[in-house]
Amino acid sequence: MAVKTTIFGYPKIGPNRELKKAIESYWKGEISKEEMLKKVEEVDIDRMKRVINADLDYIPSNDFSLYDFVLDVSTMVDMIPKRFRNIEDGLDRYFAMARGTKDAIACEMTKWFDTNYHYIVPEIEGAFKLVKNRPLDSYKWAKEKLGVETKPVLVGAFTYLMLSKVYERQEGSLLMKMVKAEESEKFKPLLFELASVYNQMLRELQEEGVKAVQFDEPALVLDLDEDKINALIDAYRIITEGITDIEIFVHTYYESLDHFEKITKELPVSGIGLDFVVNNENLENLKKYGFPEDKKLQAGVISGRDPWKTDYKQVLNLIEEIKKYVSEDRIILSNAAPLFHLPVSLESEKGHLNEDLLELLSFADERLEEIKTLKQIINKGKEIPSQTLQEFRDKFKNEEVQKAIEDIDNHEIKRPHDFKERYKKQIELLGLPRFPTTTIGSFPQTKEVRQMRAKFRKGEISAEEYENFIKEQIKKAIEIQEELELDVFVHGEFERTDMVEFFGQKMDGFAFTKNGWVQSYGTRCVRPPIIYGDVSRPEPMTIKEIVYAQSLTEKPVKGMLTGPVTILNWSFYRKDIPKKDIAYQIAIALRDEVLDLEKAGIKVIQIDEPAFREGLPLKKRKQEEYLNWAVKAFRLTNNTVAETTQIHTHMCYSEFNEIIEWIYAMDSDVISIEASRSKGEIIEAFEKFNYDHGIGVGVYDIHSPRVPPVEEMLEIAERTVQVIDKNLIWINPDCGLKTRGWEETIPALKNMVQVAKILREKY
Ligand code: GLN
Ligand code: ZN
Repeated sequence: MAVKTTIFGYPKIGPNRELKKAIESYWKGEISKEEMLKKVEEVDIDRMKRVINADLDYIPSNDFSLYDFVLDVSTMVDMIPKRFRNIEDGLDRYFAMARGTKDAIACEMTKWFDTNYHYIVPEIEGAFKLVKNRPLDSYKWAKEKLGVETKPVLVGAFTYLMLSKVYERQEGSLLMKMVKAEESEKFKPLLFELASVYNQMLRELQEEGVKAVQFDEPALVLDLDEDKINALIDAYRIITEGITDIEIFVHTYYESLDHFEKITKELPVSGIGLDFVVNNENLENLKKYGFPEDKKLQAGVISGRDPWKTDYKQVLNLIEEIKKYVSEDRIILSNAAPLFHLPVSLESEKGHLNEDLLELLSFADERLEEIKTLKQIINKGKEIPSQTLQEFRDKFKNEEVQKAIEDIDNHEIKRPHDFKERYKKQIELLGLPRFPTTTIGSFPQTKEVRQMRAKFRKGEISAEEYENFIKEQIKKAIEIQEELELDVFVHGEFERTDMVEFFGQKMDGFAFTKNGWVQSYGTRCVRPPIIYGDVSRPEPMTIKEIVYAQSLTEKPVKGMLTGPVTILNWSFYRKDIPKKDIAYQIAIALRDEVLDLEKAGIKVIQIDEPAFREGLPLKKRKQEEYLNWAVKAFRLTNNTVAETTQIHTHMCYSEFNEIIEWIYAMDSDVISIEASRSKGEIIEAFEKFNYDHGIGVGVYDIHSPRVPPVEEMLEIAERTVQVIDKNLIWINPDCGLKTRGWEETIPALKNMVQVAKILREKY
């Protein structure tokens, strides 16, 4: 007897973001399609070779993608929205759906479960049809190029449809509206239709002699009702009909499986994959319900989502537990969640990252090594490598910080002053008119700004020169805001590359990789900071720039900070300490900054939380706990300020409905939100809730260079005035203006200020 192994979701970007470079050069017309495809193939071959080296029993294929693996399924089953159908070339059409053209707006893009990966939302219109058997192509390619038998991996039909939107006629209207497929009455028939296309795909694979296929079905971990579960099982009956020679695996991840017994028993497939890393619920369920004798278990025992080295002893114990319920010959060890959430390799971090920290880390390539080692330990009796992980973790301990957060859960953390009172005093003190205008923080990061930063980094200019340059930019920004007659100013964030990185670099406990890129969407990659130790603030982080900006004007300048929840959600963080403790640690560091700003005479402080919602657990029953500590962490940053200090926050996503009471509980004086894309619809959530704190309405979309006319912004603002107390309304853009140019920013803001003036006349 011996265990088998597999992995899936190995990063697609290449060790040095080769994929990005190739595709973007093609978009810019610098290289031909053939050249691009050749480069892309090299990236794929390189990654396949690394994967093959891991001595796997099931080598994955079809897990590479030019843009997005959900979009890959859309084009496979011919789900092409009408507006792209006229594009002849398949590849151009594919990129057009992702990025839009001058005639057709791009498909919506949204976050993949609770991760920072974004997928292209399928728009269901017309029938599914198998037009391109990608798994088959990929299987044949791997066989021919690399001489290996592979297991094609793709998003399962159920998950695909759960993430889709369908066109539906609005009640009492002729208008068609996109609604979530999972909420549509058509869900079941659509699922069955898609299932038969998947069946056809499998039949072709079977014909070719393919031995195994993996369907990724993370949607199975969501809160699903009986109806959905039954539809799922029926759909898999259709999918697997007549498929006798292929082992079909359904892998679930990011959370544990509810309906454990029913799904493991009744889903008509050869194997089920479970995530044993995210928490112990799958193991508990395994103990409770056992595992069907006729199925294999793809046991996700190695983390795909966080960069911490696998603790072999711990995993071996886990496998021992699992073996009590599933015989060894039916166990296939794998990563739990896909590996693309990790950077490719630690190789380029050697000599860059702190050596003690390197001892704790493992990226995708290191995961491959780990799975290989695990197999050798179990099957060949290889000695367990000695590890002193705890010892290394202890090196990053800061007892003072740990002490400071110890008791937080036992206290109510809240500003003592009543909102109405304090808001009135603030407005008076600041001398603000009705409908105050402001911006969200960043101003255009021009080529010049980026070039100077690069020069500074390379040592081509001195710190002093760089600082003077930043000062000039701030000065210019203040002058422009004076000219525009905005009411509350910002300094422009010219010294910041990224709102999380900037703070991480100034706090203890954060590390930054040299090359630790992770795909965020398409060719866009991010380099998440790694929070490896207790977090603290050795010295002030933002005071110099803000105070300088304030010295140039009579108008209030907003202090600008990134909130604790956002910093945490956009970073890798420790798994051996509770997430909320890390949030509290960051919050306390930020509180010191808030108090320093206040001491320096800053009267308005904005603490951005755009990733507040992102950390929301997938399962409803776990959301309250998260929201509780997330709100608390936010409040911790500012609960000790004076009554007259005005606290703003900013969020820029549009699904506020379910969490509005928690946003209210954050108790900020003003929250600025995105409202233009939904034409002000979002305000409804605030209206329904009777939200009675300040609201900054994002009246224009900063994602486009277009200068919105006064009437357009006025319409959104007026809509708000109808439902929200006019004394609470602020006027601002949707989000920061960092990606815009000054040429469009100035006229757009001019119009925006005009809107406020009209409102003041009218109301
Ligand atoms: N203050 C930040 C900025 O203006 C906010 C960015 C964000 O919400 N993502 O850039
Ligand atoms: Zn924003």
